[in-house]
Amino acid sequence: MLPFAYSRPEAETAALRAGGTFIAGGTQLLDLMKLGTIAPDRLVDINDLALRQIEIGKDGLILGALARMSDVERHAGILSDYPVIAATMSLAASQQIRNMASLAGNVLQRTRCAYFRDADNMQCNKRIAGSGCAALEGVNRKHAILGASDRCIATYPGDFAQALVALGADLHTTGPDGQRRIAFEQLHTGPDDPHKETVLAPGELITAFAIPAGPWTRRSVYVKVRDRESYAYGLATAAVALHVEGGTVREARIGLGGVAYRPWRAHEAEQSLRGKTLDEGTASAAARIAFAGAKPRGANAFKVDLGQRTLVRALLQANRMEG
Ligand code: SF4
Repeated sequence: MLPFAYSRPEAETAALRAGGTFIAGGTQLLDLMKLGTIAPDRLVDINDLALRQIEIGKDGLILGALARMSDVERHAGILSDYPVIAATMSLAASQQIRNMASLAGNVLQRTRCAYFRDADNMQCNKRIAGSGCAALEGVNRKHAILGASDRCIATYPGDFAQALVALGADLHTTGPDGQRRIAFEQLHTGPDDPHKETVLAPGELITAFAIPAGPWTRRSVYVKVRDRESYAYGLATAAVALHVEGGTVREARIGLGGVAYRPWRAHEAEQSLRGKTLDEGTASAAARIAFAGAKPRGANAFKVDLGQRTLVRALLQANRMEG
């Protein structure tokens, strides 16, 4: 690891003025620094900022950017009113990591593509702009089948983000140019320029997540399929929230993970379910729509079927819940 400067400001304004890479839980940043994948010259420790709130009101849920994953997964109001969010926490990483990891760090986590993390690999558009993509003809079993391009087929690795896209969350940020509110679905950019991953400006800090209330939040689930049942990234995941009245779907919300370049909302599949009764047939039809644009690359072709099965399971599971 290369030497770096370190500061720990107590106020947001001082943190913004410090002009370095923000660190909170450090569960990923320090890993990547040790691997040599990244080498920031200044770390700004933001753990003293007052950004850990968890508030449920009539308009929805506000989560501070520095709330710890373990605090969110155990929160009684989230377990009852936003179970999909609690599940994206409890199914992620290990308990020790969840005790440290912040929500903002979680949504900004970098891909697990081995070529990206290997500092000796010189063919990775995400790490070295314009250098190519070793995964196209290389080891790509865990790579994306939705939303990728020949420039990068990396998979977005997180879980929480799928719940946020499904529930239509917004982000609050502050930065050198003031405060912003950003639709979470717009946070992560596409694969045209893999070197750039989000719309955040240099020095812009996520301060909170705003998840709107809705008749679908209580009937919501997260299904995660992975190589082993614990401490593994998803091969295919689905966050689903449903509003069902008298057996008819009024609204369906679907976020997909483990299969896409960025947190992926399946708008057309959602649309296909409105006004229908949810059963194996309608769920399977929606899943086929969700994966109609899939582009497998050899070793990851199994994800087309696995992704559909995962979504069907999530839809049927959500449908069996109380609204
Ligand atoms: Fe790099 Fe993306 Fe290719 Fe992986 S898939 S080697 S992250 S460009």
